[in-house]
Amino acid sequence: DNIPSKEQIQTALDNAYAFAKTVQGGKNASYIPALAQVPSDLLAIAAVTVNGDVLTAGSADRPFAIESISKAFNLAYVMDLIGMKQLRTKIGADPTGEPFNSVMAIELHGGKPLNPLVNAGAMATVSLVNGADADEIWANMMNNFNSFANTALTVNQEIYKSESATNQHNRGIAWLLDSYGYFYNTPPMIVDLYTRMCSLNITTAQLALMGSCYANGGVNPVSKKRVVKEENVPPILAEMCMSGLYDSTGDWMYKAGLPAKSGVGGGLVAVSPGKMALAAFSPPLDPAGNTVRGQAALQSIIKELNLNLFRS
Ligand code: GLU
Repeated sequence: DNIPSKEQIQTALDNAYAFAKTVQGGKNASYIPALAQVPSDLLAIAAVTVNGDVLTAGSADRPFAIESISKAFNLAYVMDLIGMKQLRTKIGADPTGEPFNSVMAIELHGGKPLNPLVNAGAMATVSLVNGADADEIWANMMNNFNSFANTALTVNQEIYKSESATNQHNRGIAWLLDSYGYFYNTPPMIVDLYTRMCSLNITTAQLALMGSCYANGGVNPVSKKRVVKEENVPPILAEMCMSGLYDSTGDWMYKAGLPAKSGVGGGLVAVSPGKMALAAFSPPLDPAGNTVRGQAALQSIIKELNLNLFRS
């Protein structure tokens, strides 16, 4: 195989860590009050290969809020459940060209959420999870997250409370989608489940493991369990290529050339199909909502290990 050796990966992680430490700029998300409190100087990097090797640099076992990154994994569950075609009809696939919580994007497209990685599409995705009530839906969602992470993840209660108290905008989006017939369950219940999902604690090492399931064709390389149908991995990674880093996904794709997903908690995960996943965590965000140091770190590793998908 052409998977870099553990030594090569560790060296690339250490180099990226040293480099990213020197990168300045960005600000913690402040629209969710509890996220503003997370120490800005935290930095962690991890890689998990398709062989299940785990390599880290920095505080890779420190939990943080998964936020938007959860969207890229709940999507797996729903795509397995209803199929890619239905997902495209009910939610869509294309980038909105607008910020992640845009109402305009919905209005401009006949009420359609457009893609599952922005708030509108992600909440609509949660509204498609099966279950008779909130508990059953949540249990199904958590089963899926736990099999990706190969551990029982928990909700960060402080973030959840903080976000629940300040998510009026998301509640508005859910009702708006509902009014257009693009929401598939009761808005308040679903917004609450979506908010809980965004408040999940995750470590950088766990995040890299979650991503490595996509690198490994849908099988968790540590537990060896299938977590998503093989046929659904390419469309999910395609979605991450189009919309994984909000409205600066194009910049990321030019520089990194790998499908990735970021969250306003400061996390970032990138997938190198057939080889490994990389993850990073550092709270300060650029204006589009992406971790500044996390992007710098992963770009450095991608370059050193020659992982850009578009290089021959
Ligand atoms: N829970 C956050 C929100 O809905 C997630 C945003 C993000 O990470 O992009 O506003």
